Amino acid sequence: MNSVYFDNASSTPVDKEVLKAMEPLWRKDFGNPLSIHSFGEKARKTLKKSRKTVANFLGAEEEEIIFTSGATESNNLAIKGVINGIKNTELRIKNDEFQTTNNKKGEKPRIITLKIEHHSITRPCEETQKLGLAEIDFLSVENNGILNIEKFRQAIKKNTRLVSIMAVNNEVGTIQPIRKIGHIIVQENARRNKDEKIYFHTDMAQAYGLNYKMNDLKIDLASFSGHKFYGPKGAGVLYIRKGTPFYPIAHGGMQENGMRPGTQNLPAIVGMAKAIEILNEEDVQKVGKLQSILIDRILAEIPGSFLNGSREERIYNNVNFGFRGVEGESLALKLSEQGFAVATGSTCAVGMEEASHVLTDMGLNLQQARSSIRITLGRQNVEKEVRAFIKALKTSVNQLRNIAGNHV
Ligand code: PMP
Repeated sequence: MNSVYFDNASSTPVDKEVLKAMEPLWRKDFGNPLSIHSFGEKARKTLKKSRKTVANFLGAEEEEIIFTSGATESNNLAIKGVINGIKNTELRIKNDEFQTTNNKKGEKPRIITLKIEHHSITRPCEETQKLGLAEIDFLSVENNGILNIEKFRQAIKKNTRLVSIMAVNNEVGTIQPIRKIGHIIVQENARRNKDEKIYFHTDMAQAYGLNYKMNDLKIDLASFSGHKFYGPKGAGVLYIRKGTPFYPIAHGGMQENGMRPGTQNLPAIVGMAKAIEILNEEDVQKVGKLQSILIDRILAEIPGSFLNGSREERIYNNVNFGFRGVEGESLALKLSEQGFAVATGSTCAVGMEEASHVLTDMGLNLQQARSSIRITLGRQNVEKEVRAFIKALKTSVNQLRNIAGNHV
């Protein structure tokens, strides 16, 4: 058997149909969407079609879709764009001498976010704080990897202006109660003046298959990444609801309404739109079955194993386990030698932390956090691979425990 890929949260293979849809864009239809000639015209039409596909999929309007290079950029744009947008609105109001009672206190806007967010949220939040533009409330999740909704309600302060809470965690796959969060924000906003409104952003990079519609969820901004659902790398989306304060972080072009200037990566955008068109429920069901097999069998057959994160409120492709007396990194390497690609946590955090910030926030001690591996399934995986993996996992865990003299 060739190497089996179980790291689909990190990236997915590009679908053949996606590749086919992208092919003409490299040499034949390579025009710049802003050019006035026929090549530009064709590129413009293609871009519009892709935007429409994404907008329909999200239940949004075309002008609310901003193409980016991926979720890291979308997340940075969301945090910095809204905080600077609020500042800019206040400045404009001031210049027009419409300064309201809320602004005169000079309070900084506050952001509520989670400690377990991807670093492309936590870091830009920290940066805005460093620059004196905002204050941040980092909330912890419960032991099951999920935010307690009452804790969220209590964290809202008078000057809270932005909430950024991920839909699905990339390490443990837990699904956050974003519908309830949106509802609480709507209730809170009903009591506030327009210029005190709270805006709600969610990182949906790992939420594909949940079929969220932006309006249903009362979301103002949402981030997506094409390479997480069988599209190419280098294409992402930031959904921005009309009327959301926003100030760009790059300047110098009118692409994406000036909100994200720079020539669009049209081949990748077309590929991402195709990947969206071919998403289907059967694949989700199929992957969910493999997940059940993995979780059930590991729990039953490997003593000293523990599932990280809620089993019920969990995305259908994520399996994250700790193994007592085992070092996660050694286990991942051992599995790799046997042809199975798994991760120890977030790929983007490699080299950034000594133990997963997600697992430690969930209450695991360093040893437990370091004993964990993440197995993320994709639609290309089959049951035979899962069965072979469990066998390899059992022997690897035993061998590592024997070497370390740790008996469970
Ligand atoms: N947010 C989450 C939850 C992710 O899982 C990832 C990818 N690891 C990102 C953001 C960053 O996405 P991209 O690779 O498209 O920049």
